[in-house]
Amino acid sequence: MKKLRILANDGLAETAAARLREAGHTLFTEHIDAGDLARFINENNIDVLIVRSATKVRKDLLQQLEPLKLIIRAGVGLDNIDVKDAEALGIRVRNTPAASSHSVAELVMAHLLTGVRFLHDSNREMPLRGDQAFKELKKRYSKGREVRGKTLGIIGFGRIGRELAKMAIGLEMKVLAYDPYVDEAELTLRFFDGQKAVFRIRTVDFDTVLRQSDFISLHVPAADKPLIGAAEIDKMKDGAAIINAARGGVVDEVALYKALDSGKLSFAALDVFRDEPQPPVQLLMHPKLSLSPHIGASTVEAQERIGDEIVRLIDELAHED
Ligand code: NAD
Repeated sequence: MKKLRILANDGLAETAAARLREAGHTLFTEHIDAGDLARFINENNIDVLIVRSATKVRKDLLQQLEPLKLIIRAGVGLDNIDVKDAEALGIRVRNTPAASSHSVAELVMAHLLTGVRFLHDSNREMPLRGDQAFKELKKRYSKGREVRGKTLGIIGFGRIGRELAKMAIGLEMKVLAYDPYVDEAELTLRFFDGQKAVFRIRTVDFDTVLRQSDFISLHVPAADKPLIGAAEIDKMKDGAAIINAARGGVVDEVALYKALDSGKLSFAALDVFRDEPQPPVQLLMHPKLSLSPHIGASTVEAQERIGDEIVRLIDELAHED
């Protein structure tokens, strides 16, 4: 078995780090800034570079990396890596696609349940005025809604979309899904006592999801132009809501902002932003937005599963001839 030299530039679960070191590999876990990355990788003979979304691995960097054999994206989206350029240079690129799906879906559900009960706003107001204006705030948040019986529109019916659908079904919601590459999906809900229930969801067209959903959540890959802009929001029900935990830019943030201001949308939730890591202050301050700083996959469980997958990928490389 080869002993490999590995740089985990955006952090790595401790259990995975310990297993890699136990296997005899050399692991560096300090974060190297973009300007120093090529020098560090070449001087330290790094075979494997592990990144999350923060480190950008673009063509100009790749062309300078002599020893590199494998890049692992600890997560799903490969939009921070120029994959074709890496492969053209003989550097393999792998990700850990399934490890975080459940965590992302749970975060989306948390945002949805937050939005219908105004918790995003209440959590801002209560510390400031909860002792002085309790009754006023109670009245302000008294028109919450249940999600049971409502329709959740899911755009992009891959791994995360399907996990979310299972949770929505568990909450007795109706699910409408749109995905041009999926006709039908079988979902198995597993319960704590060993029972299970199987649902078959046939996807519908984009317009049906837009027009008939009470809430819409996006689970598509990064796109050059927004999938949801002013025209699509216009088709949605009055008072509907949008949740984006896919990638910044799949929803037009200006159109979203305007629709929140006009009351067309009752609330929205964003875990991802077009301009990460510095989203516009206007968005951050909007009282109808539930916000999180790109933490969909950031749970202990997901990071451990990602770590297990990374150890497996490195083990595979170490055992190659
Ligand atoms: P996936 O590949 O399993 O599913 C994506 C689905 O989108 C596929 O079924 C594909 O057919 C569909 N799709 C592609 N283009 C579409 C379009 N124009 N309209 C509708 N559907 C379309 O991916 P996944 O694991 O479910 O991840 C989905 C998204 O979530 C990705 O953008 C990923 O980067 C993002 N993500 C975010 C976080 C986070 O921390 N917030 C964590 C993990 C993944």
